[in-house]
Amino acid sequence: MAKLVPPLLDWFSQNARDLPWRRTRDPYAIWISEIMLQQTQVKTVRPYWERWMRELPILEAAASAGPDKIHKLWEGLGYYTRARNLQKAARQIMERHGGKFPRNFEDVLALPGVGRYTAGAICSIAFNQATPVLDGNVMRVLTRIFGIEDDPRERKTGQWLWQIAGDLIAQAKAAETAKRKTCGRSGRGTNSCSCLNQSLMELGAVVCTPRNPECQICPVQRLCVAFLQNRADKLPALRRRVTATPRRFAALVVERNGKFLVRRRPAGVVNAHLWEFPNAEIGAGLRGPRHTSAIAEAATEILGLAPAEIKPLCQIKHSITRYRITMEAFRVRLNGFPSTPPGVWMSAEEFDSLAFAAAHKKLALFAAGCMLSG
Ligand code: SF4
Repeated sequence: MAKLVPPLLDWFSQNARDLPWRRTRDPYAIWISEIMLQQTQVKTVRPYWERWMRELPILEAAASAGPDKIHKLWEGLGYYTRARNLQKAARQIMERHGGKFPRNFEDVLALPGVGRYTAGAICSIAFNQATPVLDGNVMRVLTRIFGIEDDPRERKTGQWLWQIAGDLIAQAKAAETAKRKTCGRSGRGTNSCSCLNQSLMELGAVVCTPRNPECQICPVQRLCVAFLQNRADKLPALRRRVTATPRRFAALVVERNGKFLVRRRPAGVVNAHLWEFPNAEIGAGLRGPRHTSAIAEAATEILGLAPAEIKPLCQIKHSITRYRITMEAFRVRLNGFPSTPPGVWMSAEEFDSLAFAAAHKKLALFAAGCMLSG
């Protein structure tokens, strides 16, 4: 175990990608990056993180920002509960910790939206504490290095991997204490816990990738059971996930005097508080006349008026958790307009200030373009 630490630290000090959140030890900035990086790739997060830090550079600003601002800064990143939890946590820090980001692991873990992995990442990266991390990348790296055959998503195997990650970072801390070893491109001095965790994350992201790991350039090749037994492509041994469930929605694009009918999603549902075009779920397997009448019925129910004409506009496919969603958009013409519309009328220019759910953002751009060009 101890033999793994020096090559990982050396490799990280020379090969770490120069990411903007790696140039700081500010726990607020690191926390924002870790929350954004949950379920999202580095290249996607980078501009979002930079914009967030520009607009809300300190924790106090995040705590006091309006929900519209938070949603707009998050628009397109998905999993919006993260943004709402982030603000709740910022307010909690203001109230319970006097605006100072907590250093204690249990206090960090108690923040809304922060789990064991994220708390471990923040405490190790910002404060150089020996708190382990285990995300998908680290899990893959450790499963391969230690030749673990069991499914790492199983509870027992997960506990074992947490134990290994904990032992590794404890070794790094012990080595640092003994040698006051330096690492990292920032010249921060002794921060082995920070570097050890980041080296595992980085190795999983750029070398020990899910497919075709680059074992020939890996710093721990000689210590890796999977490599030595030529089993890297067999590990981790993940059980097949439940197959995706198809779902189909009809979205209605209704225009009046250059404005579109849009509405805000209610609290307590997926993508709560984000904007969308009126829509309804229709049967995924419907075809032909049954499909046509299902859309007409949905439009009548939503708008409170039977449509005079419904024309297909576009189709947008996306996935949320285990659902593979097809959103079919229709341009709807009405004879008259509902007295109490199920939403508000907004122009394409006003869309810029609203945070839309991802599929509806695409539809907003598409619809605006279609209407402008007639
Ligand atoms: Fe992953 Fe290959 Fe390195 Fe083992 S030697 S940790 S399988 S990249």
